[in-house]
Amino acid sequence: MNILKYNNAKLTQLKKDKVFLNLNELSKQDIVKISDKYPFSFQDLRQLSIIATDLYMWNESGVRDCIEEFENVQNKDLSKKEVIAHVKNYWEGLRGAKIKYEPVNKNEVERPKPRKVQLSDQENEVFGMCPVASEKTVCCNLMTIDAVQGCSLGCSYCSIQTFYSDGKVSVDKNLAEKLANIPLDPSKNYHIGSGQSSDSLVIGNKEGVLDAQLKFARENPNIILEFKTKSNNISHLLKTDLPDNVFVCWSLNPQLFIDHEEHGTASLNQRLQAAKDLSRKGVLVGFHFHPIVYYEGYEDDYKNIVRKVMSMFKPSEVAMISMGTLTFIKPAINKLRSTGLKSKVLQIPMADAVGKSSYTKEIKKEIFSTVYDQFQPWHKDVFLYLCMEESSVWESVFGSYYKDNVDFETALFDSVSAKMNKLEIV
Ligand code: SF4
Repeated sequence: MNILKYNNAKLTQLKKDKVFLNLNELSKQDIVKISDKYPFSFQDLRQLSIIATDLYMWNESGVRDCIEEFENVQNKDLSKKEVIAHVKNYWEGLRGAKIKYEPVNKNEVERPKPRKVQLSDQENEVFGMCPVASEKTVCCNLMTIDAVQGCSLGCSYCSIQTFYSDGKVSVDKNLAEKLANIPLDPSKNYHIGSGQSSDSLVIGNKEGVLDAQLKFARENPNIILEFKTKSNNISHLLKTDLPDNVFVCWSLNPQLFIDHEEHGTASLNQRLQAAKDLSRKGVLVGFHFHPIVYYEGYEDDYKNIVRKVMSMFKPSEVAMISMGTLTFIKPAINKLRSTGLKSKVLQIPMADAVGKSSYTKEIKKEIFSTVYDQFQPWHKDVFLYLCMEESSVWESVFGSYYKDNVDFETALFDSVSAKMNKLEIV
Protein backbone atom coordinates (compact mmCIF):
# COMPACT_ATOMS: atom_id res chain seq x y z
CA MET A 1 0.00 0.00 0.00
CA ASN A 2 1.24 3.49 -0.81
CA ILE A 3 0.73 5.02 2.65
CA LEU A 4 1.09 8.61 1.48
CA LYS A 5 -1.56 8.20 -1.23
CA TYR A 6 -3.82 6.33 1.20
CA ASN A 7 -3.42 8.96 3.90
CA ASN A 8 -3.95 11.83 1.49
CA ALA A 9 -7.36 10.42 0.63
CA LYS A 10 -8.27 10.01 4.32
CA LEU A 11 -6.99 13.48 5.16
CA THR A 12 -8.98 15.06 2.34
CA GLN A 13 -12.09 13.45 3.81
CA LEU A 14 -11.11 14.43 7.36
CA LYS A 15 -10.50 18.06 6.44
CA LYS A 16 -14.18 18.41 5.58
CA ASP A 17 -15.28 16.99 8.92
CA LYS A 18 -16.56 19.35 11.64
CA VAL A 19 -14.55 17.61 14.35
CA PHE A 20 -11.27 18.27 12.54
CA LEU A 21 -12.25 21.77 11.38
CA ASN A 22 -12.97 22.66 14.98
CA LEU A 23 -9.43 21.84 16.15
CA ASN A 24 -6.95 24.63 16.82
CA GLU A 25 -4.16 24.99 14.24
CA LEU A 26 -1.53 23.20 16.31
CA SER A 27 -3.71 20.18 16.93
CA LYS A 28 -4.61 20.04 13.23
CA GLN A 29 -0.94 19.98 12.32
CA ASP A 30 -0.34 17.23 14.87
CA ILE A 31 -3.07 15.04 13.37
CA VAL A 32 -1.67 15.57 9.86
CA LYS A 33 1.82 14.77 11.08
CA ILE A 34 0.91 11.51 12.81
CA SER A 35 -1.19 10.41 9.86
CA ASP A 36 2.04 10.36 7.81
CA LYS A 37 3.36 7.57 9.98
CA TYR A 38 0.46 5.15 10.37
CA PRO A 39 -2.25 3.94 7.97
CA PHE A 40 -5.10 5.32 10.07
CA SER A 41 -8.63 4.94 8.74
CA PHE A 42 -10.92 7.95 8.49
CA GLN A 43 -12.69 6.81 11.69
CA ASP A 44 -9.33 6.48 13.49
CA LEU A 45 -8.39 10.03 12.50
CA ARG A 46 -11.79 11.32 13.53
CA GLN A 47 -11.50 9.61 16.91
CA LEU A 48 -7.99 11.02 17.37
CA SER A 49 -9.34 14.48 16.50
CA ILE A 50 -12.04 14.15 19.18
CA ILE A 51 -9.42 13.10 21.71
CA ALA A 52 -7.19 16.00 20.60
CA THR A 53 -10.09 18.42 21.21
CA ASP A 54 -10.61 17.06 24.71
CA LEU A 55 -6.92 17.11 25.60
CA TYR A 56 -6.63 20.71 24.43
CA MET A 57 -9.69 21.75 26.48
CA TRP A 58 -8.34 19.93 29.55
CA ASN A 59 -4.92 21.58 29.21
CA GLU A 60 -3.19 18.22 28.79
CA SER A 61 -0.39 17.38 26.36
CA GLY A 62 -1.67 16.55 22.88
CA VAL A 63 -2.17 13.38 20.87
CA ARG A 64 1.13 13.70 19.01
CA ASP A 65 3.12 14.08 22.25
CA CYS A 66 1.30 11.08 23.66
CA ILE A 67 2.21 8.93 20.62
CA GLU A 68 5.82 10.11 20.47
CA GLU A 69 6.33 9.38 24.14
CA PHE A 70 4.91 5.89 23.61
CA GLU A 71 7.20 5.33 20.61
CA ASN A 72 10.23 6.34 22.67
CA VAL A 73 9.32 4.02 25.51
CA GLN A 74 8.52 1.06 23.24
CA ASN A 75 11.53 1.62 20.99
CA LYS A 76 10.17 -0.65 18.21
CA ASP A 77 7.90 -0.41 15.20
CA LEU A 78 4.33 -0.02 16.39
CA SER A 79 1.12 -0.98 14.65
CA LYS A 80 -1.65 1.61 14.26
CA LYS A 81 -3.78 -0.59 16.51
CA GLU A 82 -1.23 -0.34 19.32
CA VAL A 83 -0.95 3.40 18.86
CA ILE A 84 -4.72 3.99 18.90
CA ALA A 85 -5.13 1.72 21.93
CA HIS A 86 -2.44 3.66 23.80
CA VAL A 87 -3.98 7.07 23.05
CA LYS A 88 -7.44 5.83 24.06
CA ASN A 89 -6.09 4.39 27.31
CA TYR A 90 -4.44 7.68 28.12
CA TRP A 91 -7.66 9.61 27.37
CA GLU A 92 -9.86 7.18 29.30
CA GLY A 93 -7.42 7.20 32.22
CA LEU A 94 -7.84 10.97 32.48
CA ARG A 95 -11.62 10.66 32.29
CA GLY A 96 -11.67 8.11 35.09
CA ALA A 97 -9.39 10.08 37.41
CA LYS A 98 -10.20 13.08 39.56
CA ILE A 99 -9.82 16.37 37.71
CA LYS A 100 -6.80 18.45 38.73
CA TYR A 101 -7.48 22.16 39.05
CA GLU A 102 -4.48 24.44 39.55
CA PRO A 103 -4.97 27.77 41.35
CA VAL A 104 -5.96 30.44 38.83
CA ASN A 105 -4.28 33.76 38.23
CA LYS A 106 -7.44 35.85 38.06
CA ASN A 107 -5.71 38.58 36.03
CA GLU A 108 -5.30 36.10 33.21
CA VAL A 109 -8.93 34.99 33.15
CA GLU A 110 -11.13 36.69 30.61
CA ARG A 111 -14.58 37.41 31.96
CA PRO A 112 -17.38 37.14 29.40
CA LYS A 113 -18.56 40.51 28.15
CA PRO A 114 -21.94 41.71 29.38
CA ARG A 115 -24.62 41.09 26.74
CA LYS A 116 -27.07 43.65 25.47
CA VAL A 117 -30.60 43.09 26.74
CA GLN A 118 -33.27 43.40 24.08
CA LEU A 119 -37.01 42.87 23.87
CA SER A 120 -38.27 40.04 21.72
CA ASP A 121 -41.75 39.24 20.53
CA GLN A 122 -41.45 35.54 19.83
CA GLU A 123 -44.48 33.31 19.79
CA ASN A 124 -42.87 30.88 22.24
CA GLU A 125 -44.65 29.54 25.30
CA VAL A 126 -43.20 30.89 28.54
CA PHE A 127 -44.45 28.07 30.74
CA GLY A 128 -43.32 24.47 30.59
CA MET A 129 -41.92 21.45 32.36
CA CYS A 130 -38.35 21.41 33.64
CA PRO A 131 -36.42 20.78 30.39
CA VAL A 132 -34.21 18.07 31.88
CA ALA A 133 -36.87 16.19 33.84
CA SER A 134 -37.23 12.55 32.90
CA GLU A 135 -39.52 9.65 33.65
CA LYS A 136 -36.43 7.59 34.29
CA THR A 137 -35.18 9.73 37.15
CA VAL A 138 -36.72 10.65 40.50
CA CYS A 139 -38.01 14.11 39.64
CA CYS A 140 -39.66 16.96 41.51
CA ASN A 141 -42.07 17.93 38.69
CA LEU A 142 -40.65 21.44 38.58
CA MET A 143 -42.40 23.79 36.16
CA THR A 144 -40.44 26.62 34.59
CA ILE A 145 -40.93 30.13 33.27
CA ASP A 146 -38.85 30.98 30.23
CA ALA A 147 -38.76 34.74 30.78
CA VAL A 148 -35.28 35.54 29.47
CA GLN A 149 -33.28 33.84 26.75
CA GLY A 150 -29.52 33.92 26.84
CA CYS A 151 -27.04 34.42 29.64
CA SER A 152 -23.83 36.39 29.98
CA LEU A 153 -22.36 34.41 32.88
CA GLY A 154 -20.56 32.01 30.53
CA CYS A 155 -20.38 28.84 32.66
CA SER A 156 -18.38 26.38 30.63
CA TYR A 157 -20.68 23.41 31.30
CA CYS A 158 -23.90 25.20 30.44
CA SER A 159 -25.61 24.49 27.15
CA ILE A 160 -27.53 27.79 27.26
CA GLN A 161 -24.46 29.60 25.98
CA THR A 162 -24.34 27.36 22.92
CA PHE A 163 -28.05 27.84 22.17
CA TYR A 164 -28.01 31.63 22.34
CA SER A 165 -24.65 32.53 20.89
CA ASP A 166 -25.82 35.69 19.08
CA GLY A 167 -24.36 37.77 21.89
CA LYS A 168 -27.74 39.05 23.09
CA VAL A 169 -30.08 38.43 25.98
CA SER A 170 -33.76 38.64 25.10
CA VAL A 171 -36.69 39.44 27.35
CA ASP A 172 -40.13 38.46 26.15
CA LYS A 173 -42.01 41.64 25.22
CA ASN A 174 -45.35 40.18 26.28
CA LEU A 175 -44.09 38.47 29.41
CA ALA A 176 -46.66 39.90 31.86
CA GLU A 177 -49.50 39.06 29.50
CA LYS A 178 -48.19 35.55 28.84
CA LEU A 179 -47.78 34.92 32.56
CA ALA A 180 -51.33 36.11 33.22
CA ASN A 181 -52.59 33.65 30.61
CA ILE A 182 -50.93 30.54 32.04
CA PRO A 183 -53.79 28.12 32.69
CA LEU A 184 -53.03 27.21 36.32
CA ASP A 185 -55.48 24.94 38.10
CA PRO A 186 -56.44 26.80 41.31
CA SER A 187 -56.96 23.49 43.13
CA LYS A 188 -53.34 22.43 42.47
CA ASN A 189 -50.01 23.58 43.88
CA TYR A 190 -47.02 24.36 41.69
CA HIS A 191 -43.30 24.77 42.25
CA ILE A 192 -42.20 27.09 39.46
CA GLY A 193 -38.61 27.96 38.67
CA SER A 194 -37.79 31.19 36.89
CA GLY A 195 -34.90 31.26 34.45
CA GLN A 196 -35.12 28.18 32.28
CA SER A 197 -32.84 29.68 29.62
CA SER A 198 -30.99 32.19 31.72
CA ASP A 199 -29.94 33.19 35.21
CA SER A 200 -32.99 34.54 37.10
CA LEU A 201 -31.35 37.64 38.55
CA VAL A 202 -28.33 38.59 36.48
CA ILE A 203 -30.10 41.24 34.37
CA GLY A 204 -31.99 42.57 37.39
CA ASN A 205 -35.36 44.10 36.56
CA LYS A 206 -34.44 45.18 33.02
CA GLU A 207 -37.57 45.50 30.87
CA GLY A 208 -39.62 44.83 34.03
CA VAL A 209 -38.75 41.14 33.95
CA LEU A 210 -38.70 40.68 37.72
CA ASP A 211 -41.75 42.84 38.39
CA ALA A 212 -43.77 40.78 35.90
CA GLN A 213 -42.84 37.58 37.72
CA LEU A 214 -43.45 39.04 41.18
CA LYS A 215 -46.92 40.13 40.05
CA PHE A 216 -47.53 36.61 38.74
CA ALA A 217 -46.51 35.16 42.14
CA ARG A 218 -48.70 37.63 44.00
CA GLU A 219 -51.73 36.75 41.89
CA ASN A 220 -51.25 32.99 42.32
CA PRO A 221 -50.94 32.01 45.97
CA ASN A 222 -50.98 28.31 44.99
CA ILE A 223 -47.47 28.58 43.53
CA ILE A 224 -44.05 28.86 45.07
CA LEU A 225 -41.81 30.81 42.71
CA GLU A 226 -38.08 30.15 42.81
CA PHE A 227 -35.48 32.56 41.42
CA LYS A 228 -32.23 30.71 40.80
CA THR A 229 -28.95 32.52 40.36
CA LYS A 230 -25.17 32.58 40.41
CA SER A 231 -25.11 36.36 40.60
CA ASN A 232 -25.35 38.75 43.53
CA ASN A 233 -27.69 41.09 41.74
CA ILE A 234 -30.33 41.35 44.44
CA SER A 235 -30.70 45.15 44.49
CA HIS A 236 -34.18 45.10 42.95
CA LEU A 237 -35.40 42.40 45.32
CA LEU A 238 -34.01 44.30 48.31
CA LYS A 239 -35.88 47.48 47.51
CA THR A 240 -39.14 45.87 46.32
CA ASP A 241 -42.12 44.59 48.20
CA LEU A 242 -41.98 40.81 47.71
CA PRO A 243 -44.87 38.38 47.85
CA ASP A 244 -44.27 35.72 50.48
CA ASN A 245 -44.48 32.81 48.01
CA VAL A 246 -41.17 33.82 46.39
CA PHE A 247 -37.81 32.36 47.37
CA VAL A 248 -34.31 32.71 45.97
CA CYS A 249 -31.75 29.94 45.50
CA TRP A 250 -28.05 30.15 44.77
CA SER A 251 -25.98 27.56 42.96
CA LEU A 252 -22.92 27.02 45.14
CA ASN A 253 -19.56 25.67 44.15
CA PRO A 254 -16.03 25.95 45.56
CA GLN A 255 -14.16 29.10 44.51
CA LEU A 256 -11.55 26.98 42.70
CA PHE A 257 -14.26 25.54 40.47
CA ILE A 258 -15.86 28.97 39.99
CA ASP A 259 -12.47 30.38 38.92
CA HIS A 260 -12.08 27.66 36.30
CA GLU A 261 -15.57 27.08 35.00
CA GLU A 262 -17.94 29.91 35.97
CA HIS A 263 -16.04 32.95 34.71
CA GLY A 264 -18.74 35.63 34.74
CA THR A 265 -20.49 34.73 37.97
CA ALA A 266 -20.33 36.19 41.46
CA SER A 267 -17.74 34.66 43.78
CA LEU A 268 -18.81 32.09 46.36
CA ASN A 269 -18.60 34.69 49.14
CA GLN A 270 -20.59 37.23 47.14
CA ARG A 271 -23.33 34.64 46.53
CA LEU A 272 -23.50 33.72 50.21
CA GLN A 273 -23.50 37.38 51.24
CA ALA A 274 -26.33 38.13 48.79
CA ALA A 275 -28.28 35.20 50.26
CA LYS A 276 -27.65 36.54 53.75
CA ASP A 277 -28.80 40.04 52.78
CA LEU A 278 -32.07 38.72 51.36
CA SER A 279 -32.52 36.39 54.29
CA ARG A 280 -32.23 39.39 56.62
CA LYS A 281 -35.11 40.92 54.68
CA GLY A 282 -37.11 37.84 55.60
CA VAL A 283 -36.90 36.08 52.23
CA LEU A 284 -36.51 32.32 52.24
CA VAL A 285 -33.29 31.23 50.48
CA GLY A 286 -32.05 27.91 49.16
CA PHE A 287 -28.92 26.34 47.74
CA HIS A 288 -28.20 24.11 44.79
CA PHE A 289 -24.96 22.15 44.97
CA HIS A 290 -25.07 21.55 41.27
CA PRO A 291 -22.86 20.48 39.62
CA ILE A 292 -20.82 18.81 42.33
CA VAL A 293 -17.55 17.97 40.59
CA TYR A 294 -15.09 15.19 41.37
CA TYR A 295 -11.74 16.94 41.48
CA GLU A 296 -8.63 16.58 43.64
CA GLY A 297 -9.46 18.19 46.95
CA TYR A 298 -13.21 18.42 46.30
CA GLU A 299 -14.10 16.79 49.65
CA ASP A 300 -12.59 19.53 51.82
CA ASP A 301 -13.80 22.32 49.55
CA TYR A 302 -17.43 21.17 49.58
CA LYS A 303 -17.37 20.38 53.30
CA ASN A 304 -16.10 23.91 53.96
CA ILE A 305 -19.00 25.38 51.99
CA VAL A 306 -21.49 23.27 53.93
CA ARG A 307 -19.94 24.43 57.23
CA LYS A 308 -20.13 28.02 56.04
CA VAL A 309 -23.78 27.71 55.01
CA MET A 310 -24.67 26.15 58.35
CA SER A 311 -22.82 28.87 60.25
CA MET A 312 -24.45 31.73 58.30
CA PHE A 313 -28.07 30.52 58.21
CA LYS A 314 -30.61 28.86 60.45
CA PRO A 315 -32.48 25.85 59.00
CA SER A 316 -35.72 27.87 59.25
CA GLU A 317 -34.27 30.39 56.79
CA VAL A 318 -33.37 27.77 54.18
CA ALA A 319 -36.08 26.47 51.87
CA MET A 320 -34.22 23.55 50.37
CA ILE A 321 -30.86 22.16 49.31
CA SER A 322 -30.39 20.17 46.15
CA MET A 323 -27.46 18.15 44.89
CA GLY A 324 -26.69 17.26 41.32
CA THR A 325 -23.72 16.67 39.11
CA LEU A 326 -22.41 16.95 35.56
CA THR A 327 -24.77 15.13 33.23
CA PHE A 328 -24.74 15.60 29.48
CA ILE A 329 -26.78 14.59 26.48
CA LYS A 330 -24.75 13.79 23.38
CA PRO A 331 -25.59 16.96 21.40
CA ALA A 332 -24.53 19.06 24.42
CA ILE A 333 -21.16 17.26 24.53
CA ASN A 334 -20.62 17.99 20.85
CA LYS A 335 -21.64 21.61 21.30
CA LEU A 336 -19.33 22.06 24.27
CA ARG A 337 -16.49 20.53 22.28
CA SER A 338 -17.21 22.92 19.45
CA THR A 339 -16.68 25.92 21.76
CA GLY A 340 -13.03 24.85 22.21
CA LEU A 341 -13.04 26.61 25.60
CA LYS A 342 -10.44 25.66 28.18
CA SER A 343 -12.56 23.58 30.53
CA LYS A 344 -12.38 20.23 32.28
CA VAL A 345 -16.10 19.57 32.61
CA LEU A 346 -16.00 16.91 29.91
CA GLN A 347 -13.18 15.14 31.76
CA ILE A 348 -15.57 12.69 33.39
CA PRO A 349 -16.09 8.96 32.80
CA MET A 350 -19.19 9.56 30.62
CA ALA A 351 -20.84 6.53 32.20
CA ASP A 352 -24.39 5.84 31.08
CA ALA A 353 -26.93 7.63 33.27
CA VAL A 354 -30.31 6.54 31.89
CA GLY A 355 -29.41 7.62 28.38
CA LYS A 356 -27.25 10.58 29.38
CA SER A 357 -23.53 10.68 30.21
CA SER A 358 -22.21 11.34 33.67
CA TYR A 359 -20.11 9.92 36.50
CA THR A 360 -20.38 6.28 37.51
CA LYS A 361 -22.87 5.46 40.26
CA GLU A 362 -19.97 4.76 42.65
CA ILE A 363 -18.57 8.25 42.16
CA LYS A 364 -22.05 9.76 42.48
CA LYS A 365 -22.60 7.98 45.77
CA GLU A 366 -19.27 9.32 47.01
CA ILE A 367 -19.74 12.96 45.99
CA PHE A 368 -23.38 13.27 47.04
CA SER A 369 -22.75 11.51 50.36
CA THR A 370 -19.83 13.85 51.07
CA VAL A 371 -22.16 16.84 50.92
CA TYR A 372 -25.23 15.13 52.40
CA ASP A 373 -23.38 13.69 55.41
CA GLN A 374 -21.82 17.06 56.18
CA PHE A 375 -25.34 18.50 56.39
CA GLN A 376 -26.25 15.90 59.03
CA PRO A 377 -27.35 18.47 61.68
CA TRP A 378 -29.87 19.82 59.17
CA HIS A 379 -31.25 16.53 57.87
CA LYS A 380 -34.52 16.78 59.78
CA ASP A 381 -35.09 20.48 59.26
CA VAL A 382 -34.18 21.24 55.65
CA PHE A 383 -35.54 19.60 52.51
CA LEU A 384 -32.57 17.92 50.81
CA TYR A 385 -32.89 16.18 47.46
CA LEU A 386 -31.07 14.97 44.39
CA CYS A 387 -31.71 16.54 41.01
CA MET A 388 -31.85 14.41 37.86
CA GLU A 389 -30.82 11.16 39.55
CA GLU A 390 -32.25 7.68 39.32
CA SER A 391 -33.70 5.78 42.27
CA SER A 392 -30.62 3.59 42.84
CA VAL A 393 -28.48 6.70 43.41
CA TRP A 394 -31.07 8.12 45.85
CA GLU A 395 -31.09 4.80 47.67
CA SER A 396 -27.31 4.75 47.98
CA VAL A 397 -27.19 8.27 49.42
CA PHE A 398 -30.43 8.68 51.41
CA GLY A 399 -31.32 5.03 51.97
CA SER A 400 -34.70 5.62 50.26
CA TYR A 401 -36.38 7.40 47.37
CA TYR A 402 -39.76 8.70 46.28
CA LYS A 403 -41.60 5.93 44.44
CA ASP A 404 -43.78 8.49 42.72
CA ASN A 405 -42.76 11.93 41.42
CA VAL A 406 -46.02 13.42 42.68
CA ASP A 407 -45.04 12.42 46.24
CA PHE A 408 -41.70 14.17 45.73
CA GLU A 409 -43.42 17.27 44.33
CA THR A 410 -45.88 17.39 47.24
CA ALA A 411 -43.20 16.87 49.89
CA LEU A 412 -41.05 19.66 48.45
CA PHE A 413 -43.99 22.07 48.10
CA ASP A 414 -45.29 21.39 51.60
CA SER A 415 -41.88 21.75 53.19
CA VAL A 416 -41.04 25.04 51.43
CA SER A 417 -44.46 26.64 51.80
CA ALA A 418 -44.62 25.73 55.51
CA LYS A 419 -41.40 27.70 56.03
CA MET A 420 -42.73 30.62 53.97
CA ASN A 421 -45.78 30.82 56.16
CA LYS A 422 -43.65 31.20 59.27
CA LEU A 423 -41.46 33.98 57.83
CA GLU A 424 -42.25 37.60 57.95
CA ILE A 425 -41.14 39.51 54.88
CA VAL A 426 -40.08 43.04 55.78
S1 SF4 B 1 -35.34 16.87 39.99
FE1 SF4 B 1 -34.15 18.31 38.76
S2 SF4 B 1 -34.36 17.55 36.67
FE2 SF4 B 1 -36.00 16.62 37.85
S3 SF4 B 1 -37.75 18.05 37.57
FE3 SF4 B 1 -36.70 18.61 39.46
S4 SF4 B 1 -35.31 20.25 38.81
FE4 SF4 B 1 -35.92 19.14 36.93
